[in-house]
Amino acid sequence: MSFRDRPTNLDDQGNRKWVYAKQPKGRWYTLRTLTGWGLLLFFIAVPFIRINGYPLVLLDIADRKFIIFGAIFWAQDTFILALLMLSFVLFIILFTVTYGRVWCGWACPQTIFLEMVFRRIEFWIEGDYKKRRRLDAGPWTFEKAWKKLVKHTVFILISVAMTNVFLMWFIGNEKLYAIIRDPIREHLNGFLIMLAVSAVFYWIYSWFREQICTMICPYGRMQGVLLDGQSIVVSYDYQRGEPRGSNEKGDCIDCRRCVAVCPTGIDIRNGTQFECIHCTACIDECNQVMRKMDRQPNLIRYDSAVGILKGHTSIWNTRNRAYSVVLLLLFGFFVYTLVTRPAIETTILRTPGLLYQENQDNTISNVYNMKIVNKTHTDRALNLKVLSHGGKIEIAGSKIFVEDQGMFQTTFILYLPKEEVKKDKMTVDFGIFEEDKLIETVKVTFVGPRD
Ligand code: SF4
Ligand code: SF4
Repeated sequence: MSFRDRPTNLDDQGNRKWVYAKQPKGRWYTLRTLTGWGLLLFFIAVPFIRINGYPLVLLDIADRKFIIFGAIFWAQDTFILALLMLSFVLFIILFTVTYGRVWCGWACPQTIFLEMVFRRIEFWIEGDYKKRRRLDAGPWTFEKAWKKLVKHTVFILISVAMTNVFLMWFIGNEKLYAIIRDPIREHLNGFLIMLAVSAVFYWIYSWFREQICTMICPYGRMQGVLLDGQSIVVSYDYQRGEPRGSNEKGDCIDCRRCVAVCPTGIDIRNGTQFECIHCTACIDECNQVMRKMDRQPNLIRYDSAVGILKGHTSIWNTRNRAYSVVLLLLFGFFVYTLVTRPAIETTILRTPGLLYQENQDNTISNVYNMKIVNKTHTDRALNLKVLSHGGKIEIAGSKIFVEDQGMFQTTFILYLPKEEVKKDKMTVDFGIFEEDKLIETVKVTFVGPRD
């Protein structure tokens, strides 16, 4: 059976074949380690970094409040968030078409945690691939028992720590500290959820591992439709490498070290495959072989199928340049949308279930509910005025004061002179003022009697 008939990590019976990946070594692995650890630091630091007293990122689903790089998004910002999500999806598609699975190998949390944290701990405790394979196949000895015990204890502790950091992204660090200080019975459900998520993390990183990428991740499944001949992917240069073998003309000596180092257990010489997460481990490994054999490096490298076929690299071709410009424009759109968001957002709606009222002072009144969201980092003292029809406002509570990043809600009555109410449904303009400066206008319906 060949790699085309079944995944390489399954045997003839459909049972899983454990991947004992060799620890990579080389320039790409060093770069990936630095990037991975940088991102890991970012993941841990985010809940503790504050901008004007607010976390850098907070995804508060319960209060429908999202803080992204210090900017608060409320439920009213759904449109902006949807727009951002849409451009993000477009960004991912274009990025993949151009640069392949760079995300998977360099920035995906699954790869970073598995390759840069859990697998490294395994390398430190149990040794490289041959030792690990021997240890697992051998009988239970004192050495095997303590190594397994230490490894799994560390895995469990890291899984619990990961879950707590993850939780801080959603509830903030102060809330988490409070929950930790309180007796468990006060947050029993939350505690059980925390344990369940930790158990899932532990299960993924100690056992399920690369199968997330090869069988479950939808992004991985989409590669077949996203990649084309010009996409930059980790490729084996078959023009140079074949015919393979130590006594053959091609540069590949068929040592299979690129297979030994692959965390998904595939042979990149079979061409681009779903299972390849573009981790670059095989590039590093093959380069070491090429150096020893005194041959040109980069028999396996980042390149496109067209580039390999034509015998020259085509990483920076016209299409990729054009797509990169589109990606930059999309990113610019992100920033523009964020920066040009209104600082104050007011919603005024007629109180449901109430009609107009005719008053003795020859006026007609409507009751309104008003909600003002302050998206800035300063407290705002505001005024509400009616800009059209010369009416009068009676507001519950004497002043409108919205705390920084806060929300203010109240009810008010608008009285319009009877002679101004010429239709049963008309539009009235309100202005929100800060001192004497008009900062927002809102159009609202006013109802009156039929002619
Ligand atoms: S490491 Fe390089 S030389 Fe060895 S089998 Fe893989 S491609 Fe061929
Ligand atoms: S084939 Fe190479 S780049 Fe792809 S997953 Fe395996 S080692 Fe990583």
